[in-house]
Amino acid sequence: MVGRRARGTRLSVSKILGPILVWDNHGCMPLRPEDSTFLPLLYSVRDAGISIVTLNLAYGRQGAASAAAMAASFTAWIADRADSFMLVGSAEDVRLAHCSGRLGICFDLEGMEALDGRLANIERFYRLGVRWMLAAYNQPGIAGGGCLSEDDDKLTPFGRDAIAEMNRLGMVCCATHCGYRTAREMIDVSAHPVIFSHSNPRAVWDHPRNIPDDLMMACARRGGVIGINGFGPFLGQNDASIETYIAHVEYALDLVGDDHVGIALDYVFDRTELDELIRTDPDAFPPAHYAEGAKMIEPWRLPAIAERLHDRGHSPQTLAKLFGGNHLRIAEQVWGKPVGR
Ligand SMILES: [Zn+2]
Repeated sequence: MVGRRARGTRLSVSKILGPILVWDNHGCMPLRPEDSTFLPLLYSVRDAGISIVTLNLAYGRQGAASAAAMAASFTAWIADRADSFMLVGSAEDVRLAHCSGRLGICFDLEGMEALDGRLANIERFYRLGVRWMLAAYNQPGIAGGGCLSEDDDKLTPFGRDAIAEMNRLGMVCCATHCGYRTAREMIDVSAHPVIFSHSNPRAVWDHPRNIPDDLMMACARRGGVIGINGFGPFLGQNDASIETYIAHVEYALDLVGDDHVGIALDYVFDRTELDELIRTDPDAFPPAHYAEGAKMIEPWRLPAIAERLHDRGHSPQTLAKLFGGNHLRIAEQVWGKPVGR
């Protein structure tokens, strides 16, 4: 059913999305390495005109073994379907996926607990295809403070060393889910631009997962990109309407300019798993800030969002940067490019 809808959508808006590189910088497949039930939905993502998706391997307290198992599972599934999908590890790979009509896939890690306390694991995960990693997932952790904690913790010495190692490897540092002070310090100490991979402006909707103007501006000043999230509770009162998503996009464009805003829907493909996590893991998902039944912007609604932005007068150049050009610029600038502090 999803596939049928996606193909219809693609036809009607191909005039806008057709030539544009579209990159959704954060998607959440179920983290069950033996279960590939949901992976065929990636065909619908591709059919909606999306060229690249960054898939999550682990979040919060999940460790290295489970993250590596997910990387192996996704990689094997992709390799078996090489006519439709490819793992992307460089900006050249991204262009190749886009030109060849395949969906390019790379990975991310939501939190440094996945390193099991070992900096050497950063290079291991880089080799497995991880291209961005954030420091702390909602709560304080080994690397720094989380955005849902009362304590505004600093970046820890381990966090600083991890950022230096990411700079050396050319893995992108991400400050989404981090506390204010940790995010601010990441932006200051990283030699490469730091992104907020999937964070919305708090000025539009006051949720602790959303970020204040000064963090957005600091990120942009250092060359970073803020990916606008399609998760209903971060957009508004569990509001996943296209109008509200566009309100967040336009606020960000006004504040930091069209070189610094991107797309990162945070779409959770298995809604049942999401509701179960919200029910059973109040530490990562405090009931005050999360509720079951979250609405989300599905990736196959991106063409309609592009069409609406186009109708509202945004130029083709702005749309190209917003939908994927800015993420590509970061990949060109950072992936595999070593810098020292
Ligand atoms: Zn997240």
